[in-house]
Amino acid sequence: MQVPLTQLSDHIAMIDNGLLTTDGFGATYVIQGDQVALIETGTSLTAEATLAGLQQLGIDPEAVEHILLTHVHMDHSGGAGMLTQHLPNAKVYLHSMTAEHLVEPSRLMRSVERAVGQMWHVYGTMQPIAAERMVAAENLNLNLGKGISLQAVPTPGHSPDHLAFWEAHSGTMWAGDSIGILMSTYDLNMPVTPPPAFNLADQLQAFRTLARYPIRQLLPSHFGPTVAVPALAIEEMHERLVKIVRDVRDHLHLAELPVEAIVERALPTNEPVSPALNLVLWGNLSMSVRGLKLFFERNPQAVELI
Ligand SMILES: [Zn+2]
Repeated sequence: MQVPLTQLSDHIAMIDNGLLTTDGFGATYVIQGDQVALIETGTSLTAEATLAGLQQLGIDPEAVEHILLTHVHMDHSGGAGMLTQHLPNAKVYLHSMTAEHLVEPSRLMRSVERAVGQMWHVYGTMQPIAAERMVAAENLNLNLGKGISLQAVPTPGHSPDHLAFWEAHSGTMWAGDSIGILMSTYDLNMPVTPPPAFNLADQLQAFRTLARYPIRQLLPSHFGPTVAVPALAIEEMHERLVKIVRDVRDHLHLAELPVEAIVERALPTNEPVSPALNLVLWGNLSMSVRGLKLFFERNPQAVELI
């Protein structure tokens, strides 16, 4: 198996893990100091691509000591269990508020199935991880050697447990899902505000938090380096989020929220795309509209936030 691999700098590589059966959507990042770390794992269905990518990079499975997850959502953490079976020395880093879901994944899988609806069949399954291999990541400052340290940046909003990771040496920020989906390969960008735990006030704060860093390379998990300079990419995604949030808010009074109409207005393109990409666009935006609707139902006063 040969996977698309991009060397982003002397110590950072990106594996296109083929997430949700499409190219250019799911990245697993490989960071090499004296020690090797991965950021993000995709799903169990993409673990094979990650292992192939490591082999292409000439990295022994034994050399991978750290697997960092930005948050528990299954398209980020779902492959971790499978990977730990093949990477015998790897510990898994996740916010302590959700770590239990990787030790006992059945409840998370049921929740994801509800949240992602029509996309569920491309999410795979989850292998449990032994509790002693899990490490709390919210205060992480992980020294990989060669001057490279990965530092956790709490960025809740998209999910309560969301962490970005900052590497000061190269000015790299792994944004996870905290600014949304930026499929730079296709120039398709959109917010992602899923049920059941999206929080608008926190999300607005996450944009402000990230904007304070001197970011030279911004790496969302979906997908790859941003085309726009980092500060502008963050600003653009902030604006896109506000637009869809206002659209949902303005239609909340309707008994039947016109999900399809809102999705259509939020679509980043009107051009035809591949069926797999179409599923990603419609699936994520429908999920986002449902996430916002649920958030406003639970937090009616939040309509005043924007
Ligand atoms: Zn997510």
